[in-house]
Amino acid sequence: MNNIELWQSVLAQMQFHISKANFSTWFQNTEIATRDNEKIVISVPNAFSKEWLSNKYNKPILKILREIDDSIKDLAFVIKPQQGKDIQLRSVEESNRMEDAQLKFDEFKINKDTNLNPRYTFDNFVVGSFNELAHAAALAVADNPGVTYNPLFIYGGTGLGKTHLIQAVGNKISQELKKKKVKYISSEKFVSGIVSAIRTNSMESFKASLAPIDVLILDDIQFIAGKIKSQEEFFHVFNSLYEKNKQIILSSDRPPNAIAELEDRLKSRFEGGMIADVSLPDYETRLVILKTKLQEKNADLPEEILDYIAINVKKNVRELEGALNKLLIYNKINQSLDLETVKKLLKGFVFSPFDVANYKKIIETVAKFYNLEEKNLFDPTRRKEIVKPRQIAMFLLRKELKYSFPAIARKFGGKDHTTAIYAYKKILQENEENNKLTEEINLIKQKIYSG
Ligand code: ADP
Ligand code: MG
Repeated sequence: MNNIELWQSVLAQMQFHISKANFSTWFQNTEIATRDNEKIVISVPNAFSKEWLSNKYNKPILKILREIDDSIKDLAFVIKPQQGKDIQLRSVEESNRMEDAQLKFDEFKINKDTNLNPRYTFDNFVVGSFNELAHAAALAVADNPGVTYNPLFIYGGTGLGKTHLIQAVGNKISQELKKKKVKYISSEKFVSGIVSAIRTNSMESFKASLAPIDVLILDDIQFIAGKIKSQEEFFHVFNSLYEKNKQIILSSDRPPNAIAELEDRLKSRFEGGMIADVSLPDYETRLVILKTKLQEKNADLPEEILDYIAINVKKNVRELEGALNKLLIYNKINQSLDLETVKKLLKGFVFSPFDVANYKKIIETVAKFYNLEEKNLFDPTRRKEIVKPRQIAMFLLRKELKYSFPAIARKFGGKDHTTAIYAYKKILQENEENNKLTEEINLIKQKIYSG
């Protein structure tokens, strides 16, 4: 394996551990500068990257490198300023070369006009009961943008295919209806666009730049929560596109009614179209997903191994893909992948409820979900916005971790354990009667188990 291949393998794995935004910020224009025996030196474009990579990513990078080649012992970073075009051309060439290996990473293939990644299509999107409504709605929108469901709102936990699905809609439209102008924007970018337009007094030209768009796709719209000014401007953008029958597609980690600090008028706009969720695939579907990914990568693995992955890696689809990639890279180098090795390699991916859902995770997730600080959950207050999340936290400790009621009471400041029993029973009962609460609890659970 040469240095280019080695580094591409590391990148292919790293992108499953960090967000896309982080990945392209810190890993674009990096490569292996030198390799002498035990030490690898990575070149990075500037001092900032150097500092960030060596502080935050040194360990995971070294770990991945060592899994590929355990003679590697040390890692360092050097700054190598970019020389404009040359580098870009070279990276295109490099990625072309890596296409043979099918273990390429595709951040650089994003379409400049639409911001869409051509990798996300309906053809390679696996459908099962866990996402069939979302898939059907997305397909309907792709066939008739602006007509069938407007807006289309897709929600669900991390790594469950939201970005894939909404980009598939965009790709299908821009391929089949060439005149339609499609734009995909992450909500983070969208908000920073609004903020800088406000600051530079150029809101009108910001809006004018959006006006020609026929299909606007905004990913992770929950990001707009709490940003009052951005919501106000977005409301106007939404209306002007909507009135002209332009299609709006949104994704979020939760349904509109569960996004705290979202203006009511936006909530009701979001609820005015089609809302569909994606959830966790079951075992059979996980197996189908693995096989689809293998086909895409032109690779193969024994049935026994695929079965092991499908049974054990169940957090989300991103993890499933990450696990598969890891095995494929190993297989490419060593070509002797047996089940024992697989078990060793996939240790970090294998799901155990006790690893994932622990006390800290539950408290952290519930607090975050309701926009509270963790300590608020323990405040001795009767305020409704605290009492409900506190009761949900108690409920989940009991239900998910089988904590005893006295143990729960102790955690919550030595309250009488009847308080914990009361909380548990109350949420249990409401959970049956109140759909909104059920949905919230499901989303919280999804977050606990998928993060
Ligand atoms: P989200 O946006 O919900 O966090 P992504 O759309 O980024 O999740 O999906 C994570 C990874 O899993 C992507 O590589 C995507 O292609 C893959 N994936 C998710 N759902 C599916 C699916 N149903 N079929 C095929 N691949 C999927
Ligand atoms: Mg996403």
